[in-house]
Amino acid sequence: MAAETYLFPCLKDNFGVLLHDPDSGATAAIDAPEAAPVEAALQKTGWRLTDILVTHHHADHTAGVGPLKERHKCRVVAPRNEAARIAHVDETVGEGDTLRLGSFEGRVIDTPGHTLGHISYFFPAAKLAFVGDTLFSIGCGRVIEGNPQMMWHSLLKLRGLPDDTQFYCGHEYTDANIRFAKTIEPNNKALAARAAEVAKLTAAHKFTIPATIGAEKAANPFLRADNAELAKAVGLIGSPAWQVFAEIRERKNRF
Ligand SMILES: [Zn+2]
Repeated sequence: MAAETYLFPCLKDNFGVLLHDPDSGATAAIDAPEAAPVEAALQKTGWRLTDILVTHHHADHTAGVGPLKERHKCRVVAPRNEAARIAHVDETVGEGDTLRLGSFEGRVIDTPGHTLGHISYFFPAAKLAFVGDTLFSIGCGRVIEGNPQMMWHSLLKLRGLPDDTQFYCGHEYTDANIRFAKTIEPNNKALAARAAEVAKLTAAHKFTIPATIGAEKAANPFLRADNAELAKAVGLIGSPAWQVFAEIRERKNRF
């Protein structure tokens, strides 16, 4: 049977998400911003928590891990390169590792930049990716621990996933991201279409994710730093893509 997901808000603007395999009953929480909304989501779905898949060490992605593990005795999987900064870890993973969730196989992709050990989880058969704070819809995470070159390389890896991959990110920032993206590419038709879609979703009090990689790479300026039009728009014709990316990221930081 197909994978099921359940998306819910946590903290101020974090997302929590559950990934469920109906055949085996296995259920993973991708990150655990806080325990209570995850417990409420489990109640609502009737699913039993078997795994927590952590994308990076920030407290707004890990604060719920301890209490959830104590209650559900679930397995905690975390990025190898920053596992020392995350409590209650059972298994560490990195680039190219696979992990099993019931009948699903997930692949680990190193996506450093926001933090140095940040990872993303990709489930090819289910066409789902969980990208934490690396890629947001029409945006990307702040480059806190890494550098722009590293972050651009990570975004390229996510952009390279199949177009029909649906991705789940760590925060609901889409609306603000669209307002910024329009200052970079005011004439991007895919961006205008996404803006109209998001306005509808927001008016209906619905979440703006998941989005697909295919739609995203046409509209998200942070995935388009190697596009000549975009380089021209920020006055960096002929510059390496990572420098164009760095300029867009810097402008967003000041936006
Ligand atoms: Zn973070």
